[in-house]
Amino acid sequence: MAKGYQANKERQEALSTYGKAIGKRAGFTCEWCGEKEELRVWDQKPDREPEMDSLALLCGRCRTLAEGRKAGLNELHAIRNALWSDIPAVAEGAAQVLARCKEPWIREAIEESLIDENLKAELLLKLGY
Ligand SMILES: [Zn+2]
Repeated sequence: MAKGYQANKERQEALSTYGKAIGKRAGFTCEWCGEKEELRVWDQKPDREPEMDSLALLCGRCRTLAEGRKAGLNELHAIRNALWSDIPAVAEGAAQVLARCKEPWIREAIEESLIDENLKAELLLKLGY
């Protein structure tokens, strides 16, 4: 337990050192939807060492989407442009949220996006293609 706590603490410290750089990169707006409420760094790959490419600045609402809440249609449209980000955590994280909904435009958007090919194939498969 102590080890886990220590690892978690070190992780939190590592994340906070990235906080400023991520905030600056994001222009202090949510990197998915552009909102400015409750911005915090979100870690797309919590099992790995944090790095700029696996972190995104997200608003409170988008963080709940990242954690698995099902998005409404307006929210899906709001994060759609994030697919075109050249930051992997931003584009791939948004793709993972979008792929939970089987709207036809989502399949097209994911297909056209430039996200990692393996992830793209996996998400398209999940969407039934
Ligand atoms: Zn957001």
